[in-house]
Amino acid sequence: MRDLLGGKGANVAEMTRILGADRVPGGFTITTEACVAYMESGGATPAGLDAQVADALARLEAQSGRTLGDADDPLLVSVRSGARESMPGMLDTVLNLGLTDRSVEGLAARTGNPRFAWDSYRRFVQMYGNVVHGVSGERIEQEIRALKARRGVTEDTELDVDDLRELVTTFKGLYREATGEDFPQDPQVQLDGAIRAVFDSWTGERAVTYRRLNRIPDSWGTAVNVQQMVFGNKGETSGSGVAFSRDEVDGSPEPSGDFLPNAQGEDVVSGVRTPRDIRELADWQPAVHAQLMDILRTLERHYGDMQDTEFTVEEGHLYMLQTRNAKRPAQAAVRFAVDAVAEGLLDRGAAIATIDAASLDALLHPTFGNLDYTVLARGVAASPGAAKGEIVFTAKEAVAAAAEGREVVLVRPFTEADDVAGFHAARGILTSEGGKASHAALVARGMGRPAVTGAGDVEIDLAAGEMRVGDVVLRAGDRIAINGTTGGITTDDVPLVEPEISAEFLTVLGWCDELRTLGVRTNADTPQDAAKAIEFGAEGIGLCRTEHMFLGDRQPVMADVILAADDEARTRAIDALRPLQEADFEEILRTMAGRPVTVRLLDPPLHEFLPHPHDLPEGSPERARVESLQEANPMLGTRGVRLGILMPALYEMQVRALFTAAAKVDGANVEVMVPLVDYERELELVRALIERVAQETGVPDGAYTVGTMIELPRACFLADAIAHYADFFSFGTNDLTQTGLGFSRDDIEARILARYIDVGILDRSPFETIDSPGVGQMLRMGAWLGRKTKRDLKLGVCGEHGGDPDSIDFFHHSGIDYVSCSPFRVPIARVAAAQAAI
Ligand code: ADP
Ligand code: MG
Ligand code: MG
Repeated sequence: MRDLLGGKGANVAEMTRILGADRVPGGFTITTEACVAYMESGGATPAGLDAQVADALARLEAQSGRTLGDADDPLLVSVRSGARESMPGMLDTVLNLGLTDRSVEGLAARTGNPRFAWDSYRRFVQMYGNVVHGVSGERIEQEIRALKARRGVTEDTELDVDDLRELVTTFKGLYREATGEDFPQDPQVQLDGAIRAVFDSWTGERAVTYRRLNRIPDSWGTAVNVQQMVFGNKGETSGSGVAFSRDEVDGSPEPSGDFLPNAQGEDVVSGVRTPRDIRELADWQPAVHAQLMDILRTLERHYGDMQDTEFTVEEGHLYMLQTRNAKRPAQAAVRFAVDAVAEGLLDRGAAIATIDAASLDALLHPTFGNLDYTVLARGVAASPGAAKGEIVFTAKEAVAAAAEGREVVLVRPFTEADDVAGFHAARGILTSEGGKASHAALVARGMGRPAVTGAGDVEIDLAAGEMRVGDVVLRAGDRIAINGTTGGITTDDVPLVEPEISAEFLTVLGWCDELRTLGVRTNADTPQDAAKAIEFGAEGIGLCRTEHMFLGDRQPVMADVILAADDEARTRAIDALRPLQEADFEEILRTMAGRPVTVRLLDPPLHEFLPHPHDLPEGSPERARVESLQEANPMLGTRGVRLGILMPALYEMQVRALFTAAAKVDGANVEVMVPLVDYERELELVRALIERVAQETGVPDGAYTVGTMIELPRACFLADAIAHYADFFSFGTNDLTQTGLGFSRDDIEARILARYIDVGILDRSPFETIDSPGVGQMLRMGAWLGRKTKRDLKLGVCGEHGGDPDSIDFFHHSGIDYVSCSPFRVPIARVAAAQAAI
């Protein structure tokens, strides 16, 4: 029921069923639909909500035997956000609601623990003011720091009742300053305010930013969970913590997590106090530890996935407050999949389904190339992978630097939800506070960014714009490197090296190969790329672009071909190019050792190979010639098959070079591909040319195939006619997106995309994930019409979409035979193809 109740609400209800009502505090959930109605009406309370909340509250009161905010024995509740997909820390939550000047005394008397009562009240006034009315969190922290300094103590827990009373008075003052009103003493007013605040937090800036980055639709809304409070701050046999059913960083089977005695949950995640490792729970309260371990196993079995939980212990009684499938770095995801199969928890298909294919990128990312670097400081290895770059101290600077193409490491004392955009922009994150469960660690792992947290020896002085370790002082712009796998930090210029694929990852990839039906090839133009792709499991080359072979020191020769004054000069220039091209092909064919290699004939507009007219002498014939070749819309101009029609000698040279190379390589498997075909006659003509050259070079029929890219709308609609001349189609989804949507790929990202996402026209770039209802339907029509003509027509997809998991799912269900993507996406495509098949 997560769509309706949000992930937290649905799982709290489910946990109550599995674990029993004495393990989960009671409560009720206001649905995401109510939030949507609230948003759509511009902030009016949805009809019927008040009555239903009153009704549900009455039942909770009856069940608990207490009344919300009662003067003698108050029921207190938390008001918790919870969206369909978890957005850790991005939405608001209010704890200890129901406390007032009167009920705090009742709670103190009833529990015989005034310190606890006043600690809860000061937390409530603080949180309610901050969350519901925007009282500055920084001001609040200042006041706490100031009071601790006056009392000469360092921990919140060392403040006594009078101190806490004083804080309540101070916070109420801040509240009055911010709102012009007194702090509400009516629990009903408090509850209404908190519910609205949770609704509002859905449209708050940090939640919106998080949704953009994680592609969560704005239209979902959040649920609101009103839940009876249990208290981790009641003394030394109480506490709060987070626990993962397995190690959340490497996926190994021992549960991991953090806890704090005598604390509410916020204290654990905020990094204000340094938490203790979950293993120490066994020394603190052995029975609770055993219960927790048992519950973690039960939940894992029930959900069939690694769990991330929050718990509170109240005077020795364990309560579970939340569970969800754990977000985890790629290596932990892979480790879990392999272990879950070995333990009989999941079958192979189900295990593979728990992996976020896109996250596997991180396994293919760099690590430190040497380990004998000078360690400047150490912190917690919070998110694996290594990164280096210039230091920046704010998220804003990180975003600005990334926009300029600079590589930066974001350095902060601790991070907050507002810093999320900076995470995205930075290569890596370094914090001086917090542990593995801190906000910085959580977000970094979710994004696949390397992170080192809690580096206690690093002193960060934001005001001075510097970080100090001992007597080393570093400023913004200085270079630093961090290793999120080990926790190491250094100023050495450590080389970053590409990773090896682990044995577990190989196992998973092997399972994927058995399950998938979609082939996976690679886009490669060089033998190096081809070799890398084979190592990653590519079954062939789906797109070998030939244009790169004409750049660099060959560009002048290519320019001669294009600018030749007469046929004779052109033939001479082409003859000079052919042996070079032949050698390129030979090397690639050898590397691919009999695997299919699709070679695309020249595609880009010719002027890309020419010097810029302004670099040529004014009035010179070369300049006039180059100017005459300039086009207003080069991407829609003289390119693709049009080159082959206008300048057949060029295509002929390429085909001759390819066939001559193939003749020298045993078992060469060549597929000649003609780009940008609109009309069947274009392909007919070029095919005739290819067949003639094959005869002239002595290549037998059947030793090669000829196909075309389908990358223009007309080609999709006329694919049945085109298929008469094609042995295969390869959908060029980049150009098909460009021409189908009329979006210039090179301009849309910078100008249009962000705005389109903001106003809800798009939720991601159509160049990243295929626009399935539009461009995707053209592709399906092309596939269907093509196969009407030739039942066994081979269909591939090349272009960025071939490495995108969501697009791969679509291609699988469109009857495509294989996708082709860049070498580093090949493992991701293998996993995504298996997930599409299960
Ligand atoms: P988030 O989504 O930001 O994690 P939660 O709704 O989970 O927000 O609340 C944050 C923390 O508040 C929890 O981890 C838990 O420690 C504490 N909390 C929430 N509800 C209760 C409750 N009913 N009793 C005790 N603590 C609670
Ligand atoms: Mg939570
Ligand atoms: Mg193209």
